[in-house]
Amino acid sequence: MALDLEAHITENFQWKEFLHSDAAAHAGVAFPEPPEDIQANIRKVAAKAEEARGILGVRVNIHSGWRPTEPVDINKLAGSVSKTSAHIEGLAADLSPEGMQIPDALRTLVNHPTFMEGVDQLINERGCLHMGLPCKASEYQPRHEVRGETYIQNPKTKQVERHYPLLFVWKPSPGVAHV
Ligand SMILES: [Zn+2]
Repeated sequence: MALDLEAHITENFQWKEFLHSDAAAHAGVAFPEPPEDIQANIRKVAAKAEEARGILGVRVNIHSGWRPTEPVDINKLAGSVSKTSAHIEGLAADLSPEGMQIPDALRTLVNHPTFMEGVDQLINERGCLHMGLPCKASEYQPRHEVRGETYIQNPKTKQVERHYPLLFVWKPSPGVAHV
């Protein structure tokens, strides 16, 4: 049975939000039906996004969720340079909290006593908050990494490249401001 894209995964999130990419829509590329293992991963991410929404206390839009590489490489279309992105496995979402600056949202989530426990990476990424769960690249263990974004010119190619330097590794210590 085909997935009902309008159906809710959690109280506030629908399937269609995780199966959308502006770049793919612009290129006229449709998302394939996610296989069952990917669906299970998207459910995990939606539950975590729901948790983030509750902590932030604002509506959260999903800018990008699952980014399949087949039959069309939507991960690449979306501008990702990573071939091991958690998005490919449906284990990441780029969150856009309404009316909130990304650094403020990042700080709020990181300072929450337990939110980061199951998070592999939280990144201030291209105007969104990338939330990645443990994936193949992390050997399915949470690395608890908090990363920022910077642009560096490659001295060889002169191309400006995006980098996400590690800001720190989250450690459970409630009440301590980490950022
Ligand atoms: Zn992302």
